[in-house]
Amino acid sequence: MPPASPTKRVNLRTPEVMEEVQAAVESHYHSPMVERLRATGGVGRFGDVTVRLAKQFGFCYGVERAIDLAYAARKVFADRNIYLVGEIIHNPDVNAQLTAMGIRTLSGPCKLTDIDSLSPDDVVIIPAFGAEVSVQERIKARGCQIVDTTCGDVMSVWKRVRQYANDGVTSIIHGKADHEETRATSSRARSTGGAGHFLVVYNLAETDAVCSYLRQGGDREEFLAKFRHACSEGFDPDVHLQKIGVANQTTMLRSETEEVQRRLRAAVLARDGADDNFRVFDTICGATQERQDALLEMLVAPPDLMLVVGGYNSSNTTHLADMAKEKAPTYFILNAGCLESADRIRHFDTQACQEVNASGWLPCGPICVGITAGASCPSNLIEDVLLRLLELKGVPGPATV
Ligand code: SF4
Repeated sequence: MPPASPTKRVNLRTPEVMEEVQAAVESHYHSPMVERLRATGGVGRFGDVTVRLAKQFGFCYGVERAIDLAYAARKVFADRNIYLVGEIIHNPDVNAQLTAMGIRTLSGPCKLTDIDSLSPDDVVIIPAFGAEVSVQERIKARGCQIVDTTCGDVMSVWKRVRQYANDGVTSIIHGKADHEETRATSSRARSTGGAGHFLVVYNLAETDAVCSYLRQGGDREEFLAKFRHACSEGFDPDVHLQKIGVANQTTMLRSETEEVQRRLRAAVLARDGADDNFRVFDTICGATQERQDALLEMLVAPPDLMLVVGGYNSSNTTHLADMAKEKAPTYFILNAGCLESADRIRHFDTQACQEVNASGWLPCGPICVGITAGASCPSNLIEDVLLRLLELKGVPGPATV
């Protein structure tokens, strides 16, 4: 292994670099049509099709920054190998674009090399979700140039769970245990000396299992088996649930996170007669919240159908789809290619966790279609969906926006 050297600090975002980066990013992901629609209140009428865009949708500030940094890295380190830890964000079209720019990946099905094979000349991009402490340490040990695009809102969660660990409080993280962000956060919940503990709960059923143990104990082995992939090494429910602090993956559903917090607090209160051993910090990010709020506002008067656009592994997009389907027929689609015909559509079933086919999705005659998109979905994909929808309805589109 080459000797570890401290990562050199390089300012990638100089005015000259950013001018070119902005031009490239706009050409890849921008949509004048979507921007015009947004500027006119998000409502467009095209023949007998009314399109309503949510007031907030698509790329968030954290994703924009991560993409800018990746593009800037490609420009500044033009003659060096650049690797990405996993996906930069959860959108296959954006990840494919980075691959086309020669940015290779260090994990997943398209992985090209291992961290242990990296050299000090290599550049490694940490994605917007962050990376686990151990992964970052291994990359640092190879002496690589690191370009860290971790979103500031994710780092705020890390600060909370580190504080819990330093105070002897176990982090209960509302999130998906195998999601990159939650894995990165969990690793910080061990704190610097690895003394802290964490437990990840994905939903209310798992929360209730923890609450039950808090209130009346239970079968320790059964509990550990249930959470075997979602807790810290050495976690003991009889010891490490004495003091708990709740945090959450930034992209969870606000209403569910609040209920997780409420149930856990109630369980500690029931056990201790006080909530001194309970802490909470709501760590849902502003962008996730705005997109959920905007969708709720749109659903006050539900459209005839909803299209939710984004990567199928995108947490925030999945929650938007789940919210929408409570009020309107909803199709969670990856891109315009999913709109196969006026009869057939491919879409993601969030319960079955798989893409499925459906028929008869697009009603004849006048229709109002609501569209929203997750924080990792670029506007050009939304425009493609809109144009495909109009094509299937036999309506000429953009000129009337
Ligand atoms: S969804 Fe939130 S936490 Fe994730 S990159 Fe965007 S702003 Fe940051």
